[in-house]
Amino acid sequence: MISKSKGMIIVSKNCEGPTGKAAKILQDRIKERTGKIFEIRKEDEDGAFSPLKIIIGSLQNPYPLLTELQERAEINKESLGKEGVAIKTLKEGESLYLLIVGASPAATIFAIGKLLRSVKYQPDSLLIPELNILEGPAHEVRGTFIATHEASRSYLDWNINNWEEYIEDLALWGINSIFYFPTQFGQWSEAVRLGNGNEEERKKWELLSSKVPELIKSYGLNIGVHINFNDVFPENVSKFKPAETGTSEYIEVAGLEGGEICPSYPEAQKAILDVREELFRRLPYIDFLSIDIVDAGGCGCKRCKTSYIDTYFKVCKGIAGRLREYHPEAKVIINTQALSEKGIELFCQHLRKDSLWLGYILYDCYGLTLTLKELKSRIPDRLRDKILAQPEITMRDGWGKRGATPWVRHFDHAYEKSYDLVALGGWSMEKNKYWHPEGSYLILPDNLPRACAVEELNGACSYSEGLHDDIPKLIWAQEGWNPEQDPVDILDEYCSWYFGEKAKDKMVKAILKMEEVSILRPKFKTREMLESASKISELIESAEAEIPTKAKEGWRWKMLLLRAKMEMLIASGGEDAKLKEEIVHLHHGVYRLTKTKYGQKPGIGKEALERILARDHKIYDLRIPLFEI
Ligand SMILES: [Zn+2]
Repeated sequence: MISKSKGMIIVSKNCEGPTGKAAKILQDRIKERTGKIFEIRKEDEDGAFSPLKIIIGSLQNPYPLLTELQERAEINKESLGKEGVAIKTLKEGESLYLLIVGASPAATIFAIGKLLRSVKYQPDSLLIPELNILEGPAHEVRGTFIATHEASRSYLDWNINNWEEYIEDLALWGINSIFYFPTQFGQWSEAVRLGNGNEEERKKWELLSSKVPELIKSYGLNIGVHINFNDVFPENVSKFKPAETGTSEYIEVAGLEGGEICPSYPEAQKAILDVREELFRRLPYIDFLSIDIVDAGGCGCKRCKTSYIDTYFKVCKGIAGRLREYHPEAKVIINTQALSEKGIELFCQHLRKDSLWLGYILYDCYGLTLTLKELKSRIPDRLRDKILAQPEITMRDGWGKRGATPWVRHFDHAYEKSYDLVALGGWSMEKNKYWHPEGSYLILPDNLPRACAVEELNGACSYSEGLHDDIPKLIWAQEGWNPEQDPVDILDEYCSWYFGEKAKDKMVKAILKMEEVSILRPKFKTREMLESASKISELIESAEAEIPTKAKEGWRWKMLLLRAKMEMLIASGGEDAKLKEEIVHLHHGVYRLTKTKYGQKPGIGKEALERILARDHKIYDLRIPLFEI
């Protein structure tokens, strides 16, 4: 370890875009943690001596000093691939060079993330180990789906600064694709599209259709636009036959979220295509377009029972054609949700017949009839390395509405584990026909890293409804980078970076204990629940004393602290069903409480937070402030 209290960051003279951001992020984060300002200089301004020079650049924008050091370090295009990163320490007399090279501009940010987590911080200096990192990601798509629709718990309330803060974090962990809903047609009014509408909706549209995509691109990341298959603006629904839920021998349409019309009529298909084309025309960038087959959407009416999958393929091909008029390079993604055995057979038949318009297949959370291997054997060659998983990281164990869901070693490919939602007062999946309880194990192993290491997988896009799933989201991103990694090591890195070296071990233990409680909750008796909840509280309380003040102000810490408190409340409910039910109601308030970071009512949230965190609280004392939020 070499300690440096002074340093300089060097970039190319025309540095802009993601590489410029990479330099600024590095400068800001070093200052935040050491108090030291490392000046950013352009290569042609560089002449001064500095004990530490951090040279940042991308292969796509080389400059003399970068090229010279790259050659010395034997870093070239072949060794870096498309998105690889290199981080090397090189000694030069009294100076230490730290060379940071990304194959692409976005990769310079991935590299900065790695560097920031590889060095140590002291009040006045940076401790730099000898670094010799040269690696690239295993998975082509390392995405997350920021589900900006009404089911989300905080995303729709974000302003552009909240977006920037989080997108930056995601990029530092190697996420390269951000999916979102610019609009969920059925949940918006058409007035906005016509330039009218209320101010709140207009602002939301301006944010999601313009500011957010520009922001994502400024980090060099891919933009994935997510749309439902058959919804239109609510104003227009009455012109068509509305969609219905229902189960056919091919597919199950279990729930609709509003605005869906039956897609089997030509005039409905035209309306579906037109409204989507208008969206494509207005959006500045689309790299991926993901179209759900159901959830939310679909139609289970009598007419659709035998034709829905044919209609889906036909209309999706039409949507792809309209998309290409405005975004010629965009790739279309379709998914396999809620298909029966016959349904997936028909799905594969369509792929074999006509799929040149298609980019990827999203192997989704339910509809579990084929393993990836089997699926690959039934689809055209060109699609065999274009399969992405959509892991469910956001709802399991019922915490999705209420607080942190720090899944580390496990995930839920099939929701089948969500049966334990019932334990927290959630809903049951048992009524759904194609929700196969045992099926998930046929598809992917239920644990990490084995799931990510499945060679049939080419990427993943985790489904997220809020910041509460930050931990599994970043773990999936890192597993996509290197599927050989033990997820507990990634958690270790996470806790060290966000909670500091001293508190790290306790936080890792507390988080793993939360995961264990979530898995065992349905089997636990009161005594076991109390023991586990006490253990979590003990670890969190003892970590609290060692966490830097700045980290304690952050939402990551507050959410975990709240989860610990809530576990105690649940455990103290014991076998008393009524009491338990009341506690579950309290949880609904907690979720809104956790919006204090990004929410609309931070004042009230803060007050409630203080009350909930007060020691020796009684649950009945909490009821009023929580409902007041
Ligand atoms: Zn229908």
